Amino acid sequence: MTPENNKIITIDGPSGAGKSTIARLLASTAGYTYIDSGAIYRGVAYAYKTRKNEETIEELLRDLPLSFEFGSDTRVTLSGKDISSEIRQPDISLLASSLSQKQVVRDYANAVQRKLARQGKVVLEGRDTGSVVFPDADIKFYLDARPDERANRRYSELTMKGSGPVLSAVKEDMEKRDRNDSERAIAPLVVPPGAIVLDTTGTDVEGVLSMVLAHIEKEDGS
Ligand code: C5P
Repeated sequence: MTPENNKIITIDGPSGAGKSTIARLLASTAGYTYIDSGAIYRGVAYAYKTRKNEETIEELLRDLPLSFEFGSDTRVTLSGKDISSEIRQPDISLLASSLSQKQVVRDYANAVQRKLARQGKVVLEGRDTGSVVFPDADIKFYLDARPDERANRRYSELTMKGSGPVLSAVKEDMEKRDRNDSERAIAPLVVPPGAIVLDTTGTDVEGVLSMVLAHIEKEDGS
């Protein structure tokens, strides 16, 4: 358990399961800071892509001018340049997924998350936040949904952001990332021990949020 004023909630699961939407809403309704751990992997991937011919990933991470502001929106800057939308591009999703298999990258991302979590009440969302980064979190959730529904959600999200994706390509990317994330040797995507598992297939955002809030109230009252 975390100290009195610090409270840690983790939400893990595959892409398109609704983690970021729920984490963001939960943060704003219940007064938590939302930490999108995927943005850290994406920021590293973007930096690596732009400087790949100059240095190895180990050299890059040693002195990486990457900074994060986690609020209602996640803001990522590299050497002072705002890269918040660039990190959402499909090529960065796949590069993040492949770089996240390296221990040195995970160590970097874990250190960023643990430092941020000292600030108070936080809700973290990712693939290993409850299994590896905060195994003693106060409440852990694992969100999942059927693959077709996850791909459709991701497609709508990307369409809304104006990136004009093709549904079959979104599905293919998602399957590739699911495989990378679940089969990697280090910190694979798993249901963390003690996590509350919610299948969000066919449930809208409000429905999932109320299930999550009900569990939190139950834990708070016990
Ligand atoms: O969650 P998001 O899609 O932004 O994450 C991008 C990639 O970063 C994931 O596919 C995964 O490979 C990696 N990641 C991870 N562990 C986390 C969060 C993200 O390995 N806690």
